[in-house]
Amino acid sequence: MHKATLFKKTKEKKIQCLACSHYCKIPTEQTGICGIRENKDGELYLLVYGKAIAANIDPIEKKPLYHFMPGTKIFSIGTIGCNFQCSFCQNWDISQMSRTIKRRLKAESKEKDFEAQVTKMGYDLPPEKIIEYCQKKDIPSIAYTYNEPSIFFEYTFDTAKLAYEKGMKNVYVSNGYASHEAIDKIAPYLDAINVDLKSFSEEFYQKICKASLKPVLDNIEYYHKKGIWMEITTLLIPEENDSEEEIKQCAEFIASISKSIPWHISRFHPAYKMKDKASTSPKVLNKAYEIGKEAGLKYVYVGNIHDEKHQNTYCPECDELIIKRNWGYSKIINMENNQCGECGYKVEGAWNM
Ligand code: SF4
Repeated sequence: MHKATLFKKTKEKKIQCLACSHYCKIPTEQTGICGIRENKDGELYLLVYGKAIAANIDPIEKKPLYHFMPGTKIFSIGTIGCNFQCSFCQNWDISQMSRTIKRRLKAESKEKDFEAQVTKMGYDLPPEKIIEYCQKKDIPSIAYTYNEPSIFFEYTFDTAKLAYEKGMKNVYVSNGYASHEAIDKIAPYLDAINVDLKSFSEEFYQKICKASLKPVLDNIEYYHKKGIWMEITTLLIPEENDSEEEIKQCAEFIASISKSIPWHISRFHPAYKMKDKASTSPKVLNKAYEIGKEAGLKYVYVGNIHDEKHQNTYCPECDELIIKRNWGYSKIINMENNQCGECGYKVEGAWNM
């Protein structure tokens, strides 16, 4: 348990958390929506500081980031809890764990045990240990991922700052719901981000994610203005967000921010409360790819499926194959000094950091 930094005090020992766009007002001895930030006697505490529930070494392409340090490894960490409750979450067992614990303890009338149970989830992995491990294994970057990083903000911030001091890079994999206060504070240490644009419908965000679309759109613009390298992912779920009209809205919105933002269209597979749905058909993914290109996006990719053609990077100017990919594999084919080897086009990305 660790004292949080992103909060302000309001009346009668209530506090307002400033880490994400929910801006929860939290009464004493309660947690906010994410279930891991608790008001204790008028101060806010992060219950999962230094407690990783998952930690893995991944190819950077898995995040997915296709225009950021290609071919390198990244150390990925996450905690329990989330500020979203997506019915299709692939990591629901960890993202919804604090809610599951709360429900169980309530049924057993043991609510007082909540803090003790949450703080024992995950294993001790303080920021210093993460850096030490990465340096030993020669891993150049760290991803705050699996659950929304802004909710365990202080853990990400301390780790990112230490990583920065050692010349390492930091990446958020985010649902786009961080507060501007969190973004402003992490920005000097954040090198890249992948943001989920889960849909272009307010109803989808409210019904399926228990959140709202607008902060996500605002933040995509905000990250871009801050100059943080950003790629966007949209998971296409049959009959939920896969109409041509909605795909076009997503693509045109991204293009309105910058046509150079890579857009990853990802294949849905049945999970959590959406086990009754089919996986996204390759036909729909290919159509979405075309829609992205028609909107003027220079880099559109199809993920979560073997489709080499739609995972490669081609030069937006002359169509030369620049980077070859397949799942976690990537190989630069014809790019030198960040330029297309054929026509010299400067390929957008944060390539050699
Ligand atoms: S991180 Fe978001 S969901 Fe969690 S307490 Fe803060 S404002 Fe609420």
